[in-house]
Amino acid sequence: MIPFNQPFLTGRETEYIVDAVNSKKLSGNGKYTKLCQAYFENEFRFKKALLTSSCTDALEMASILLDIEPGDEVIMPSYTFVSTANAFVLRGAKIVFADSRADQPNMDEEKLESLITERTKAIVPVHYAGVACEMDTIMNLAKKYNIKVVEDAAQAIDSTYKDKYLGGIGDFGTFSFHETKNIISGEGGMLAVNNPQALGRSEIIWEKGTNRAAFFRGEVDKYGWVDIGSSFLPSEVVAAFLYAQLEKKSEIQSRRSRIWNQYREGLKELESDGKLSLPVIPEYATNNAHMFYIVCLNASDRKNLLVHLKENGVHAVFHYLSLHKSDFYRDNHDGRILENSDNFSDCLVRLPMFYDLTENQVNYILEKIHEFYK
Ligand SMILES: *Cc1c(COP(=O)(O)O)cnc(C)c1O
Repeated sequence: MIPFNQPFLTGRETEYIVDAVNSKKLSGNGKYTKLCQAYFENEFRFKKALLTSSCTDALEMASILLDIEPGDEVIMPSYTFVSTANAFVLRGAKIVFADSRADQPNMDEEKLESLITERTKAIVPVHYAGVACEMDTIMNLAKKYNIKVVEDAAQAIDSTYKDKYLGGIGDFGTFSFHETKNIISGEGGMLAVNNPQALGRSEIIWEKGTNRAAFFRGEVDKYGWVDIGSSFLPSEVVAAFLYAQLEKKSEIQSRRSRIWNQYREGLKELESDGKLSLPVIPEYATNNAHMFYIVCLNASDRKNLLVHLKENGVHAVFHYLSLHKSDFYRDNHDGRILENSDNFSDCLVRLPMFYDLTENQVNYILEKIHEFYK
């Protein structure tokens, strides 16, 4: 069986974990946390990077930092992971779901302005498959209506929009290091703080609502409870693992890219024959090869293709039931039909994509897809 995902290990994870253990400092914000955060601040030019236990946590931090209150509205795509919405629902927001573009799952920037009301507090673009949303349009709307922007960049490490790193454009950017992402730590995440006004407060919310970080820097002579917050920081064990991965980022990215291009080359004929569609990478975006997906013509093709692949030992998957149709949120949705979101829900297939996937395995998967469409 070719699995859908397999975590890649660089080989130095355990060495760094042992080092962290031997240093007798295992809670958060130690040596490896600082190394990882400095890496992001230098490499990606984020004003401030804070490691979290998950991207879900980073989204929840962003929601607190935006002072989301009951009655506030937050605009985001319906075609996304539940955490994008949950983080804001937890603070009482009403989610206003935007449809995807017809050509790719990112939200349709042309339809956003009509969703903005006096209560709109934030827009949350999700860079699906690590491919940038049209950020100029989104940032201009945010400026015009005085709305904040949180980029869900969970899948988008190392990708850019017009040469700017994703996650560094909006007020906040959130990343995931879950084992299904490009760079991993099992579970893990990060908040990029780009809004200069949130720099100080972000650290307080990160450390349970205390000014502990300022205390350890000697800026205050005692620390205490100064705001709401939670325990968002991961332990040094997780940060040590992550640091070993970050050191190998280029190698990981170039290998994934090769796999992605092999899929694309092998399937472009089926696309030009009108049998399926392939990912679109707009000119303003780079591709971090997080995911290779195909979009089938209809739901029954999708179902049959998945069965065919499974029968031949290939584990391909689909995902994201549109959130506006979820059991939990359906009754709160305003009834608009989001046809593109539903189309991706019904027709998208994700093919196996991981560092150790060999050229032969990809060829085998391609062969089985061609066999299906014969
Ligand atoms: C993976 C993912 C998340 C959640 O990440 P965790 O680190 O598992 O919390 C959120 N949003 C998107 C778009 C994701 O792909």
